Amino acid sequence: MNCIFCKIANKEIPSQIVFEDDNVIAFKDLNPQAPVHILVIPKNHISSINEINSENSYVVSKIFEAINKIVVQENISESGYRVISNCGENGCQTVMHLHFHILGGKKLSETF
Ligand code: AMP
Ligand code: ZN
Repeated sequence: MNCIFCKIANKEIPSQIVFEDDNVIAFKDLNPQAPVHILVIPKNHISSINEINSENSYVVSKIFEAINKIVVQENISESGYRVISNCGENGCQTVMHLHFHILGGKKLSETF
């Protein structure tokens, strides 16, 4: 499968990895929208939120456990941050591998 985030998870293409465990990998966004902009993904391919089901949903809790650790590591747990997962065309999803953006390090816009 020609999926760029699967390639990152498999270390076939380089990325700035900030966290990794058995199920989850997190790396810096190539085009950061905030001082801290990290993408957290399942190592297994799931295309989007639409594809989460009772078989694979355990990884979503693993992702949020990872987010909890990453925000402490990045020193934004107290100042605050936003977690976003874009889905589909109207959600402006450009990479079809489930991912959660962590955005922080500055006061974010209240509007979208
Ligand atoms: P989305 O629009 O929610 O699908 O977000 C995809 C994100 O992936 C964008 O913020 C891109 O900047 C980011 N991105 C795309 N390719 C890479 C890459 N090779 N390494 C890191 N981030 C990437
Ligand atoms: Zn993938």
